[in-house]
Amino acid sequence: MKLFTIGPTEMFQTTKDIRKQDVPYFRTDEFSADMLELDRLLKKTMGAAQDAKTVYLTASGTAAMEAVIINCFDEKDRLLVIAGGTFGNRFAELCRIYGIPHDVIQLGEDEELTGEHFAPYRDTDYTALLVNLHETATGQLYDIELISGFCRKKGMYLIADAISTFLCDEYKMERWGISATIISTQKGLCVTPGMSMVVVGKALAERILERPRTCMYFDFKDYFKNIERGQTPFTPAVGIVYEVLDMLRHIEKQGLEHKLAHIRNLARVYREEVQGDGIFLPHFKMSNAITTTGFEKPAANSIYRQLREKYGMCVNPSGGEFGAHHFRVSHVGDLQEADMKQLARLIKDLYVQY
Ligand SMILES: *Cc1c(COP(=O)(O)O)cnc(C)c1O
Repeated sequence: MKLFTIGPTEMFQTTKDIRKQDVPYFRTDEFSADMLELDRLLKKTMGAAQDAKTVYLTASGTAAMEAVIINCFDEKDRLLVIAGGTFGNRFAELCRIYGIPHDVIQLGEDEELTGEHFAPYRDTDYTALLVNLHETATGQLYDIELISGFCRKKGMYLIADAISTFLCDEYKMERWGISATIISTQKGLCVTPGMSMVVVGKALAERILERPRTCMYFDFKDYFKNIERGQTPFTPAVGIVYEVLDMLRHIEKQGLEHKLAHIRNLARVYREEVQGDGIFLPHFKMSNAITTTGFEKPAANSIYRQLREKYGMCVNPSGGEFGAHHFRVSHVGDLQEADMKQLARLIKDLYVQY
Protein backbone atom coordinates (compact mmCIF):
# COMPACT_ATOMS: atom_id res chain seq x y z
CA MET A 1 0.00 0.00 0.00
CA LYS A 2 1.43 3.37 -0.97
CA LEU A 3 0.71 6.02 1.66
CA PHE A 4 -0.37 9.50 0.64
CA THR A 5 -1.11 10.15 4.30
CA ILE A 6 0.34 12.17 7.16
CA GLY A 7 1.05 10.27 9.15
CA PRO A 8 2.39 7.61 9.15
CA THR A 9 3.83 8.64 5.83
CA GLU A 10 5.37 6.67 2.99
CA MET A 11 8.72 5.93 4.68
CA PHE A 12 12.13 6.21 3.06
CA GLN A 13 14.21 3.06 2.50
CA THR A 14 16.90 4.35 4.85
CA THR A 15 14.35 4.49 7.69
CA LYS A 16 13.19 0.95 6.91
CA ASP A 17 16.82 -0.20 7.10
CA ILE A 18 17.31 1.43 10.51
CA ARG A 19 14.13 -0.27 11.76
CA LYS A 20 15.67 -3.67 11.10
CA GLN A 21 18.62 -3.05 13.41
CA ASP A 22 18.89 -4.17 17.04
CA VAL A 23 17.70 -1.74 19.70
CA PRO A 24 20.62 -0.94 22.02
CA TYR A 25 20.58 -0.38 25.78
CA PHE A 26 20.36 3.36 26.35
CA ARG A 27 21.87 4.39 29.70
CA THR A 28 25.28 4.56 28.05
CA ASP A 29 27.70 7.25 26.92
CA GLU A 30 27.21 6.16 23.30
CA PHE A 31 23.46 6.70 23.43
CA SER A 32 23.90 10.03 25.23
CA ALA A 33 26.24 11.22 22.49
CA ASP A 34 23.73 10.21 19.81
CA MET A 35 20.89 11.99 21.66
CA LEU A 36 22.98 15.14 21.94
CA GLU A 37 23.73 15.06 18.21
CA LEU A 38 20.04 14.52 17.48
CA ASP A 39 19.14 17.41 19.75
CA ARG A 40 21.63 19.76 18.10
CA LEU A 41 20.39 18.82 14.60
CA LEU A 42 16.74 19.11 15.59
CA LYS A 43 17.17 22.62 16.99
CA LYS A 44 19.21 23.69 13.99
CA THR A 45 16.65 22.35 11.51
CA MET A 46 13.88 24.13 13.39
CA GLY A 47 15.65 27.45 13.62
CA ALA A 48 15.58 27.19 17.42
CA ALA A 49 18.21 28.75 19.65
CA GLN A 50 20.80 26.21 20.77
CA ASP A 51 20.02 27.11 24.41
CA ALA A 52 16.41 25.96 23.90
CA LYS A 53 15.52 22.83 25.85
CA THR A 54 13.94 19.78 24.24
CA VAL A 55 11.55 17.39 25.92
CA TYR A 56 11.54 13.95 24.27
CA LEU A 57 8.30 12.18 25.12
CA THR A 58 7.45 8.63 24.17
CA ALA A 59 3.87 9.43 23.25
CA SER A 60 1.92 10.76 20.29
CA GLY A 61 1.53 14.46 19.54
CA THR A 62 -1.58 15.01 21.61
CA ALA A 63 0.34 14.03 24.74
CA ALA A 64 2.88 16.74 23.95
CA MET A 65 0.05 19.27 23.55
CA GLU A 66 -1.37 18.18 26.91
CA ALA A 67 2.06 18.20 28.56
CA VAL A 68 2.64 21.81 27.48
CA ILE A 69 -0.65 22.85 29.07
CA ILE A 70 0.14 21.01 32.31
CA ASN A 71 3.66 22.42 32.59
CA CYS A 72 3.04 26.01 31.59
CA PHE A 73 -0.41 27.16 32.67
CA ASP A 74 -3.03 27.00 35.40
CA GLU A 75 -6.29 28.63 36.46
CA LYS A 76 -4.53 31.97 37.11
CA ASP A 77 -3.63 32.34 33.43
CA ARG A 78 -5.70 33.31 30.41
CA LEU A 79 -5.05 31.77 27.00
CA LEU A 80 -6.11 32.60 23.47
CA VAL A 81 -6.72 29.59 21.24
CA ILE A 82 -7.03 29.54 17.46
CA ALA A 83 -9.48 26.76 16.68
CA GLY A 84 -9.84 26.13 12.97
CA GLY A 85 -10.52 22.40 13.06
CA THR A 86 -10.05 19.20 15.02
CA PHE A 87 -6.59 20.04 16.33
CA GLY A 88 -7.40 23.60 17.39
CA ASN A 89 -10.51 22.29 19.14
CA ARG A 90 -8.25 19.85 20.97
CA PHE A 91 -6.28 22.75 22.49
CA ALA A 92 -9.54 24.40 23.58
CA GLU A 93 -10.71 21.10 25.09
CA LEU A 94 -7.45 20.76 27.02
CA CYS A 95 -7.99 24.24 28.49
CA ARG A 96 -11.48 23.17 29.58
CA ILE A 97 -10.24 19.93 31.13
CA TYR A 98 -7.54 21.71 33.14
CA GLY A 99 -9.78 24.63 34.08
CA ILE A 100 -7.64 27.26 32.37
CA PRO A 101 -9.52 30.43 31.43
CA HIS A 102 -9.38 30.94 27.69
CA ASP A 103 -10.93 32.59 24.67
CA VAL A 104 -11.31 30.88 21.33
CA ILE A 105 -10.99 32.30 17.84
CA GLN A 106 -13.31 29.84 16.15
CA LEU A 107 -12.95 29.53 12.38
CA GLY A 108 -15.37 27.93 9.94
CA GLU A 109 -14.20 25.10 7.70
CA ASP A 110 -13.28 27.32 4.78
CA GLU A 111 -12.55 30.48 6.76
CA GLU A 112 -9.12 32.08 6.48
CA LEU A 113 -7.51 33.51 9.61
CA THR A 114 -7.00 37.28 9.18
CA GLY A 115 -6.03 40.28 11.31
CA GLU A 116 -9.71 41.02 11.93
CA HIS A 117 -10.07 37.84 13.98
CA PHE A 118 -7.66 39.31 16.55
CA ALA A 119 -9.41 42.68 16.94
CA PRO A 120 -11.81 41.64 19.76
CA TYR A 121 -8.88 40.37 21.86
CA ARG A 122 -6.57 43.35 21.55
CA ASP A 123 -7.36 44.78 24.99
CA THR A 124 -7.46 41.56 27.00
CA ASP A 125 -4.43 40.29 28.91
CA TYR A 126 -3.29 36.82 27.93
CA THR A 127 -0.44 34.64 29.11
CA ALA A 128 -0.13 32.84 25.79
CA LEU A 129 -1.59 32.00 22.43
CA LEU A 130 -2.04 28.38 21.35
CA VAL A 131 -2.06 27.56 17.66
CA ASN A 132 -1.66 24.58 15.34
CA LEU A 133 0.24 26.47 12.67
CA HIS A 134 -0.94 24.01 10.08
CA GLU A 135 -4.47 22.94 11.01
CA THR A 136 -4.11 19.46 9.52
CA ALA A 137 -7.87 18.81 9.59
CA THR A 138 -8.57 21.49 6.96
CA GLY A 139 -5.13 22.00 5.43
CA GLN A 140 -4.92 25.69 6.33
CA LEU A 141 -1.46 27.10 6.99
CA TYR A 142 -1.90 30.19 9.16
CA ASP A 143 -0.02 33.42 8.61
CA ILE A 144 2.74 33.16 11.19
CA GLU A 145 3.82 36.80 10.79
CA LEU A 146 0.30 37.88 11.74
CA ILE A 147 0.15 35.61 14.78
CA SER A 148 3.66 36.32 15.90
CA GLY A 149 3.18 40.10 15.50
CA PHE A 150 0.09 39.98 17.73
CA CYS A 151 1.91 38.00 20.43
CA ARG A 152 4.99 40.24 20.36
CA LYS A 153 2.90 43.39 20.71
CA LYS A 154 1.06 41.94 23.70
CA GLY A 155 4.05 40.25 25.28
CA MET A 156 2.39 36.83 25.15
CA TYR A 157 4.08 33.47 24.89
CA LEU A 158 3.45 31.80 21.57
CA ILE A 159 2.90 28.03 21.68
CA ALA A 160 3.09 26.49 18.22
CA ASP A 161 1.93 23.00 17.42
CA ALA A 162 4.05 22.58 14.29
CA ILE A 163 3.41 18.85 14.04
CA SER A 164 2.34 18.86 10.40
CA THR A 165 4.22 21.92 9.14
CA PHE A 166 7.76 21.32 10.45
CA LEU A 167 9.86 19.86 7.58
CA CYS A 168 6.99 20.53 5.15
CA ASP A 169 6.99 24.35 5.13
CA GLU A 170 9.56 26.89 6.23
CA TYR A 171 9.80 27.01 10.04
CA LYS A 172 11.88 29.54 12.00
CA MET A 173 11.24 29.17 15.71
CA GLU A 174 13.55 31.89 17.02
CA ARG A 175 12.97 34.42 14.26
CA TRP A 176 9.20 34.12 14.66
CA GLY A 177 9.41 34.53 18.43
CA ILE A 178 7.92 31.12 19.16
CA SER A 179 8.18 30.11 22.83
CA ALA A 180 7.55 26.38 22.39
CA THR A 181 7.34 24.13 19.34
CA ILE A 182 5.52 20.80 19.41
CA ILE A 183 6.36 18.12 16.84
CA SER A 184 5.77 14.42 16.42
CA THR A 185 7.76 11.67 14.69
CA GLN A 186 5.12 10.36 12.27
CA LYS A 187 4.52 13.60 10.35
CA GLY A 188 7.23 15.66 8.60
CA LEU A 189 10.01 13.53 10.06
CA CYS A 190 8.45 10.55 8.20
CA VAL A 191 9.43 7.95 10.78
CA THR A 192 7.52 5.58 13.06
CA PRO A 193 4.76 7.05 15.26
CA GLY A 194 5.55 6.94 18.97
CA MET A 195 7.55 9.98 20.02
CA SER A 196 6.81 13.65 20.23
CA MET A 197 9.07 16.53 21.12
CA VAL A 198 8.58 19.93 22.68
CA VAL A 199 11.34 22.46 22.04
CA VAL A 200 11.08 25.14 24.71
CA GLY A 201 12.73 28.56 24.36
CA LYS A 202 14.66 30.12 27.24
CA ALA A 203 11.97 32.49 28.54
CA LEU A 204 9.26 29.85 28.75
CA ALA A 205 11.74 27.32 30.19
CA GLU A 206 12.45 29.73 33.06
CA ARG A 207 8.73 30.03 33.78
CA ILE A 208 8.37 26.25 33.81
CA LEU A 209 11.30 25.85 36.21
CA GLU A 210 9.62 28.16 38.73
CA ARG A 211 6.37 26.24 38.75
CA PRO A 212 5.53 23.47 41.23
CA ARG A 213 5.64 19.84 40.21
CA THR A 214 2.14 18.56 39.46
CA CYS A 215 2.78 15.34 37.60
CA MET A 216 5.48 12.74 37.07
CA TYR A 217 5.78 11.45 33.51
CA PHE A 218 5.13 14.83 31.92
CA ASP A 219 7.21 16.96 34.28
CA PHE A 220 9.35 19.06 31.91
CA LYS A 221 11.81 20.05 34.66
CA ASP A 222 12.98 16.48 34.82
CA TYR A 223 13.45 16.32 31.03
CA PHE A 224 15.33 19.65 30.96
CA LYS A 225 17.82 18.34 33.51
CA ASN A 226 18.29 14.96 31.83
CA ILE A 227 18.76 16.21 28.28
CA GLU A 228 21.78 18.22 29.42
CA ARG A 229 23.62 14.88 29.44
CA GLY A 230 21.75 13.38 26.48
CA GLN A 231 19.24 11.36 28.47
CA THR A 232 15.52 11.27 29.28
CA PRO A 233 14.05 10.58 32.74
CA PHE A 234 12.18 7.50 31.48
CA THR A 235 12.87 4.91 28.78
CA PRO A 236 12.48 6.54 25.38
CA ALA A 237 11.42 4.69 22.22
CA VAL A 238 15.09 3.95 21.55
CA GLY A 239 14.48 2.56 18.07
CA ILE A 240 12.62 5.70 16.99
CA VAL A 241 15.41 7.89 18.36
CA TYR A 242 17.71 6.26 15.80
CA GLU A 243 15.19 6.72 12.97
CA VAL A 244 14.96 10.43 13.81
CA LEU A 245 18.72 10.81 14.05
CA ASP A 246 19.15 9.15 10.65
CA MET A 247 16.51 11.40 9.11
CA LEU A 248 18.05 14.57 10.53
CA ARG A 249 21.50 13.54 9.30
CA HIS A 250 20.09 13.05 5.80
CA ILE A 251 18.40 16.44 5.88
CA GLU A 252 21.64 18.03 7.09
CA LYS A 253 23.46 16.42 4.16
CA GLN A 254 20.98 17.20 1.39
CA GLY A 255 20.02 20.61 2.80
CA LEU A 256 16.72 21.63 4.35
CA GLU A 257 15.95 23.91 1.39
CA HIS A 258 16.25 20.99 -0.99
CA LYS A 259 13.84 18.89 1.04
CA LEU A 260 11.28 21.69 1.32
CA ALA A 261 11.54 22.47 -2.40
CA HIS A 262 10.78 18.84 -3.25
CA ILE A 263 7.61 18.77 -1.12
CA ARG A 264 6.52 22.19 -2.40
CA ASN A 265 6.89 20.93 -5.96
CA LEU A 266 4.88 17.76 -5.29
CA ALA A 267 2.07 19.87 -3.81
CA ARG A 268 2.14 22.20 -6.83
CA VAL A 269 2.08 19.36 -9.37
CA TYR A 270 -0.80 17.58 -7.63
CA ARG A 271 -2.84 20.75 -7.22
CA GLU A 272 -2.44 21.78 -10.86
CA GLU A 273 -3.34 18.32 -12.05
CA VAL A 274 -6.36 17.52 -9.88
CA GLN A 275 -8.39 20.75 -10.04
CA GLY A 276 -11.41 21.33 -12.27
CA ASP A 277 -14.51 19.44 -13.47
CA GLY A 278 -16.15 19.43 -10.04
CA ILE A 279 -12.94 18.95 -8.04
CA PHE A 280 -11.88 22.01 -6.07
CA LEU A 281 -9.32 23.21 -3.52
CA PRO A 282 -9.82 25.47 -0.47
CA HIS A 283 -9.52 29.28 -0.78
CA PHE A 284 -7.08 29.75 2.08
CA LYS A 285 -3.33 29.26 2.02
CA MET A 286 -2.47 25.57 2.33
CA SER A 287 0.57 23.88 3.81
CA ASN A 288 2.78 21.95 1.42
CA ALA A 289 2.14 18.92 3.62
CA ILE A 290 -1.32 18.09 2.36
CA THR A 291 -3.91 19.15 -0.16
CA THR A 292 -7.52 19.15 0.95
CA THR A 293 -9.31 17.92 -2.15
CA GLY A 294 -13.00 18.80 -2.47
CA PHE A 295 -15.71 17.19 -4.62
CA GLU A 296 -18.97 18.87 -5.63
CA LYS A 297 -20.76 15.51 -5.43
CA PRO A 298 -20.34 13.47 -2.19
CA ALA A 299 -17.81 11.14 -3.81
CA ALA A 300 -14.97 11.28 -1.28
CA ASN A 301 -15.70 8.02 0.56
CA SER A 302 -16.24 6.06 -2.63
CA ILE A 303 -13.04 7.33 -4.25
CA TYR A 304 -11.11 6.79 -1.02
CA ARG A 305 -12.25 3.14 -0.90
CA GLN A 306 -11.54 2.44 -4.57
CA LEU A 307 -8.06 3.97 -4.33
CA ARG A 308 -7.26 1.61 -1.47
CA GLU A 309 -8.92 -1.52 -2.78
CA LYS A 310 -8.16 -1.34 -6.52
CA TYR A 311 -4.94 0.66 -6.67
CA GLY A 312 -3.23 0.16 -3.28
CA MET A 313 -3.13 3.88 -2.59
CA CYS A 314 -4.15 5.39 0.72
CA VAL A 315 -5.15 9.03 1.20
CA ASN A 316 -6.32 10.77 4.42
CA PRO A 317 -10.10 10.80 4.80
CA SER A 318 -11.53 14.04 6.23
CA GLY A 319 -13.63 13.67 9.35
CA GLY A 320 -17.14 14.76 10.24
CA GLU A 321 -19.68 16.31 7.90
CA PHE A 322 -16.70 17.44 5.83
CA GLY A 323 -16.00 13.78 5.05
CA ALA A 324 -18.41 13.07 2.20
CA HIS A 325 -17.09 15.92 0.06
CA HIS A 326 -13.38 16.03 0.96
CA PHE A 327 -10.30 14.01 1.56
CA ARG A 328 -6.68 15.03 2.00
CA VAL A 329 -3.64 14.00 0.00
CA SER A 330 -0.22 14.17 1.62
CA HIS A 331 2.92 15.18 -0.26
CA VAL A 332 5.27 14.13 2.51
CA GLY A 333 7.44 11.01 2.47
CA ASP A 334 9.15 8.93 -0.18
CA LEU A 335 6.99 10.22 -3.06
CA GLN A 336 7.83 11.60 -6.50
CA GLU A 337 6.20 13.79 -9.14
CA ALA A 338 5.04 10.72 -11.08
CA ASP A 339 3.14 9.51 -7.98
CA MET A 340 1.33 12.84 -7.74
CA LYS A 341 0.38 12.83 -11.40
CA GLN A 342 -0.81 9.24 -11.31
CA LEU A 343 -2.88 9.81 -8.17
CA ALA A 344 -4.43 13.03 -9.50
CA ARG A 345 -5.39 11.33 -12.76
CA LEU A 346 -6.96 8.37 -10.95
CA ILE A 347 -8.96 10.68 -8.70
CA LYS A 348 -10.26 12.56 -11.74
CA ASP A 349 -11.21 9.32 -13.52
CA LEU A 350 -12.95 7.90 -10.46
CA TYR A 351 -14.85 11.16 -9.98
CA VAL A 352 -16.09 11.16 -13.59
CA GLN A 353 -17.37 7.61 -13.05
CA TYR A 354 -19.12 8.49 -9.76
C1 LIG B 1 -1.17 14.74 13.98
C2 LIG B 1 -1.35 15.99 14.73
C3 LIG B 1 -1.37 16.03 16.13
C4 LIG B 1 -1.16 14.83 17.01
O1 LIG B 1 -1.97 13.76 16.79
P1 LIG B 1 -1.58 12.37 17.47
O2 LIG B 1 -2.55 11.45 16.86
O3 LIG B 1 -1.73 12.52 18.93
O4 LIG B 1 -0.15 12.13 17.08
C5 LIG B 1 -1.51 17.24 16.75
N1 LIG B 1 -1.63 18.37 16.05
C6 LIG B 1 -1.61 18.38 14.71
C7 LIG B 1 -1.72 19.70 14.01
C8 LIG B 1 -1.47 17.20 14.00
O5 LIG B 1 -1.44 17.22 12.67
